[in-house]
Amino acid sequence: MDFALDEELRMFRKMFRDFAQNEIAPLAETLDKEERPPLETLKLAAEQGFLGAPFPEEYGGSEIGTIGYCMMLEELGKVCMSTAMIIEVHTSVAAMCIYLDGTEEQKRTYLEPLALGEKIGSFALTEPGAGSDVAAIQTTAVRDGDEYILNGNKIWVINGGIAETFVVFAKTEPEEAQGITAFIVEKDTPGFTVGRSEKMMGLHGIPVATLFFDDCRVPAANILGGAEKLNQGSATATKALDHGRLGVGAVCLGVAQGALEAGVQFACEREQFGGPIALKQAIQNFIADTATEIEALRYLVYHTAWLVDQGQKYTKEAAMVKLFGSEVANRAVNCMLQTHGGYGYTKDYPIERMYRDVRVSRIFEGTDEIQRFIIAADILGEKGLKIRP
Ligand SMILES: Cc1cc2nc3c(=O)[nH]c(=O)nc-3n(C[C@H](O)[C@H](O)[C@H](O)COP(=O)(O)OP(=O)(O)OC[C@H]3O[C@@H](n4cnc5c(N)ncnc54)[C@H](O)[C@@H]3O)c2cc1C
Repeated sequence: MDFALDEELRMFRKMFRDFAQNEIAPLAETLDKEERPPLETLKLAAEQGFLGAPFPEEYGGSEIGTIGYCMMLEELGKVCMSTAMIIEVHTSVAAMCIYLDGTEEQKRTYLEPLALGEKIGSFALTEPGAGSDVAAIQTTAVRDGDEYILNGNKIWVINGGIAETFVVFAKTEPEEAQGITAFIVEKDTPGFTVGRSEKMMGLHGIPVATLFFDDCRVPAANILGGAEKLNQGSATATKALDHGRLGVGAVCLGVAQGALEAGVQFACEREQFGGPIALKQAIQNFIADTATEIEALRYLVYHTAWLVDQGQKYTKEAAMVKLFGSEVANRAVNCMLQTHGGYGYTKDYPIERMYRDVRVSRIFEGTDEIQRFIIAADILGEKGLKIRP
């Protein structure tokens, strides 16, 4: 067992850290205030190959491996969770669906521009009546000649307002719980409209939108994976969400680390009772507990990334990373906001934004409760016990 990072990974980490500090961090507060996406820094990130980091070079990717990719999300998450999550959803979930299950032609046509960052991707599964219970989606896709006609709505779609390529899940066998198919839908397809961005507690840099499909005609050739993947959309979503959960865990690792660094700096500078508050044991406990949890999370993230690169099954580990990562990050921002005292509750310090941004990590890409179900289902499944959510 070798825990040392090789030379290449150390070099990548320095590059991600420099980019995050120099390009992403200066814009984080502006995005939050102006409630707009970081289009200028996404363009720079694309030029660096960040938007196709884990994909093979033959599809426009940078092929840096999953550990390198997670390090990238960690460094981005440390300074701006909005930017990190735009890239995470684009890569780990939207583009990943096409990489994992798309036909060769679909990879050339749709994955390549996504990996090069020429286009942004979105993943549209959730509906007003179907969140955790994915099988309850009501968007339908009905065959008509060489086309499918889509009708229905998708809600809370990250990148909705800036994406050009959407992976959309619809029922092709409405009577069957698993009769779901994934379609690749382009932005300008007639009958498809993107609503305004949602007003949210945090992550103000992300356009999260409702999508409307009104007799939207999509070529049958846009079934993700071709005709053989008809009614196989649930499996595609599950695989992409495994990667997504690892990605969210990596972003959370960065948020927790960023919060710790902000809290430590504040604790060393803020004086009460004649000296820095860092000399008080209560504050030292916040720092020690947060740092310990971050260290444990970092190994969980890197180990799960390693499983991905080894081609091993990692559904349970991805759920653990997501569950533990979101809990660690939420506890870290909470402790570090407490360390800031009243200043932490003002908009003068980034910890206030981090506190609002990170809360949703316990909800999207599967709630904490659903992650616990996935972990328990895997463990009990080995005992021959099949449990239901
Ligand atoms: C900011 C944001 C961005 C998002 N981005 C996307 C996106 O890009 N694409 C997309 O498709 N979706 C997206 N989502 C949707 C997100 O994945 C869902 O919100 C999430 O899966 C939970 O669904 P729900 O909100 O309908 O909650 P519900 O499923 O209604 O759950 C409500 C509560 O009940 C609990 N619960 C439900 N079922 C069970 C059970 N069986 N056992 C125990 N507890 C249970 C949940 O854990 C939760 O606490 C986003 C959501 C948000 C808020």
